[in-house]
Amino acid sequence: MEDVISRIPKILNSARDTAEKIQNASDIERFESEFFGKKSALSVLSKQLKELPADQKKEAGKAVGALRQQLTDLSLQKKKELAGAMQKQKWESEWIDVTKPAPANCGSLHPISRVQERVEEIFQSMGFAVADGNHIENEWYNFDALNIPASHPARDMQDTFWIQRKGDNPNKNFVLRTQTSDVQIHTMQEQGAPLRVIAPGRVFRNEDVDASHDAVFYQVEGLLVDEDISLAHLKGTIETMLGHLFETDTCIRFRPGYFPFVEPGLEVDFQCTLCRGKGCKTCKQTGWIEFMGAGMVHRNVLKNAGVDPEKFSGFAFGFGLTRLAMMKFGIDDIRLLSSQKIDFLSQF
Ligand SMILES: [Zn+2]
Repeated sequence: MEDVISRIPKILNSARDTAEKIQNASDIERFESEFFGKKSALSVLSKQLKELPADQKKEAGKAVGALRQQLTDLSLQKKKELAGAMQKQKWESEWIDVTKPAPANCGSLHPISRVQERVEEIFQSMGFAVADGNHIENEWYNFDALNIPASHPARDMQDTFWIQRKGDNPNKNFVLRTQTSDVQIHTMQEQGAPLRVIAPGRVFRNEDVDASHDAVFYQVEGLLVDEDISLAHLKGTIETMLGHLFETDTCIRFRPGYFPFVEPGLEVDFQCTLCRGKGCKTCKQTGWIEFMGAGMVHRNVLKNAGVDPEKFSGFAFGFGLTRLAMMKFGIDDIRLLSSQKIDFLSQF
């Protein structure tokens, strides 16, 4: 019996030393096979126990049972520790930082929206309000009120999408607006004079699509009506706007132009910001960029909108937001802007 009992502490020490070194699941397996397997010291002790005389069996059996229990506890303890360590490792590797900023490819503003936002900011800083318009407009707002009666040849200047609903009076046609100038009439009717307003928005022309023409594009309409307004105010306003937009001083020039809703009518160019007027590819070697149509609001237009032309005068202008965005970002094909190509759009 002494022989059996005296070996127990040594087995236990050896088991503790081995358990100390356990790192992973296969170490556990090895531990169990070494201390519980067929050839283990425990197994040998159990066999010897059977051969002991009956009077010694009880005490020795108790000691061996206690050893078995201690070894089992040791093994369970190690399994528990290992599972905890593995769980911790898993948590650490799968941990998500919810405070981390979202990935950069979460979308961006369209180049036209970016230029539009900037243009709105600049005009707002000069006291202009931003108005919205209708995409579907009746003929009167799109043409007649702007001094373009039905017989006027200027109706042919713009290729128009006409809309007629079943059962509508054929003399009351609707159009997809061909310019943003319809907003001039609406805002003057609603607010009267004096007023300062810009109206950025989508316009529609029934024309063939190529690299520089699209059937849908964006314009910005501008209107200022007050007492004693002259072309000098127009010049100052546009130069200020372009200076802020291109973040450099720029100058503009007026050329005579014809638009039925202004008198006098002007074409406005600005000096090429790339070559500073020396001539380059962008300005086709002229040193100037054609920018917009403008002029003093025609008396008939003021009258049509209920504003007294004897008391008030004003200037109006319209420029292409699409073209401005193309110039600002160096985009050479207008079709890209409506292409929905992610690799193109994600550059902005
Ligand atoms: Zn140039």
